[in-house]
Amino acid sequence: MMGHTHALSGAAGWMAAVPLVQDTELAGISIQLGPGEIVAGALVCAGSALLPDLDHRSATITQTYGIVTRTLSRVINWAFGGHRNGTHSLFFAALAGVGAGALALVNELAVQIFVFLMIGIALRGLGLGVPKNQTASEVINALVTAGIVLALYSAGVDYAWMGLAVAFGCLLHFLGDILTHMGCPLFWPINTYRVGNNIGFSTNGTVEQYLVTPLLTIAVILYSIYLFPWPDLLP
Ligand SMILES: [Zn+2]
Repeated sequence: MMGHTHALSGAAGWMAAVPLVQDTELAGISIQLGPGEIVAGALVCAGSALLPDLDHRSATITQTYGIVTRTLSRVINWAFGGHRNGTHSLFFAALAGVGAGALALVNELAVQIFVFLMIGIALRGLGLGVPKNQTASEVINALVTAGIVLALYSAGVDYAWMGLAVAFGCLLHFLGDILTHMGCPLFWPINTYRVGNNIGFSTNGTVEQYLVTPLLTIAVILYSIYLFPWPDLLP
């Protein structure tokens, strides 16, 4: 599955989950999602849906922050046993979710930096930037991301749901890879069997281009209409 399709699945997935997790309590954390939390969650989940491919040096996510993400990619690739290995396991999703959740509980500044990184990755994944101009794309991305993070900050967005959004984004990535020809070793490191290997539609093929990507885009638009209290938001 292409980077933009993964990112879209994260945004649509979070929006679809909102009515299910709204006003619930998960692991002692009460989940209350207003418009700010829904937007922030959709972007964080979209960024997280690209996280497992940080183990590949030419993946969208690896190219987002130049040397920073490229170095991180090398470390992750080494630690998780190469491409589409440990980072495509339930263990990784849990680790990323718990790590992000702990961050949200511990330090406000760390949360803002993490949100900045995830939203920047999401926007890059969704295709924001200038084609074939890496530097311009990075500058535009950083400016737009900073604007969004500041707006969310001044709106007082609560990030108690962060771990949930990150783990869910990773799971949606696995689902995307399983639905295409790529399989995922979900039970790594206990078992390296690749769930869904060699079955499904091909990456960037007809099904993905003309069915999956448009449907996900429509889902994001419809959920945006459904989830936000538009009459109250408009002047
Ligand atoms: Zn993948």
